[in-house]
Amino acid sequence: MEWENIAVPSGYLISWKKALNLRRMSMRIDRYGEVISVQSEVERNGFTMSVHVFYIDGMLVDTGASRMLEDLKEFYEEVPIEFVSITHPHEDHTGTAAWLLREKSVPIYIRDTAIPQCRTEADIPAYREMIWGERAAFDPSPFGETIQSDHHTYKTIHTPGHEENHLALLDEENGRLFSGDLFIHPKPKVIMEDESVPVLMRSIRKVLEHDFEEMFCQHVGYIRYGKAALKKKLDYLNEVSEQVREMYKEGRTLEEMNNELFSDVPAIVPLSDYEYDSRHMIRTIIEDAAID
Ligand SMILES: [Zn+2]
Repeated sequence: MEWENIAVPSGYLISWKKALNLRRMSMRIDRYGEVISVQSEVERNGFTMSVHVFYIDGMLVDTGASRMLEDLKEFYEEVPIEFVSITHPHEDHTGTAAWLLREKSVPIYIRDTAIPQCRTEADIPAYREMIWGERAAFDPSPFGETIQSDHHTYKTIHTPGHEENHLALLDEENGRLFSGDLFIHPKPKVIMEDESVPVLMRSIRKVLEHDFEEMFCQHVGYIRYGKAALKKKLDYLNEVSEQVREMYKEGRTLEEMNNELFSDVPAIVPLSDYEYDSRHMIRTIIEDAAID
């Protein structure tokens, strides 16, 4: 779609054109149809982590990490933000929310049950604070079943598994999904202790029941064939689950399964003091199999 055809006020167009000139080393701004994608990076101890925030029709989706504020501030000053939708309360999605509330006085929406934890400064492990920075307290408002910008309506789909209050935002009319951290990677080898493979799979299935094609992932960015990418992730998780169930029936221990299925240990595992670990994938699959 050419920008001239986007049905939005002209001030908006001038703003995003200015915004596209705001490129700098640690920040990248792209446009996909009506969506502006802002990618910011943090680098710590050899780790480079990338987070996106998205902007469309007055709505900002997620707010990056607090260590990205200096980059993001410039963008926030250039586009007319009417409200903010937050997919889940993790610190790399809520890091600049306090600034936005204070400086822009815009409403910030999150799932109702996530509100109490947002009202205090986040208590996060040291390695996460080292990467992302701290997350200041802010006072958000609850999402309804849908959320509306001037020209678009989004269904808020509860999609736990990565985090219990996680929501994905779906614009059914335009086939566009803002997936938060539902996707991140097609073949994850590690998850955090609080995550659950079976719960995540149920959420992916729920989202796949809807019609959409494009996906905007907070870590990967724009994914043209988003639905296909999510399907691929579901297939992979299915495969791992079947292997684990089979080995569990054979009486193999969690350690034996882990050595066989996930012999490579990514650096995040020791760095996170095992908050990230492939064992959590296996454990949550076994726990779920035991309930069935
Ligand atoms: Zn997250």
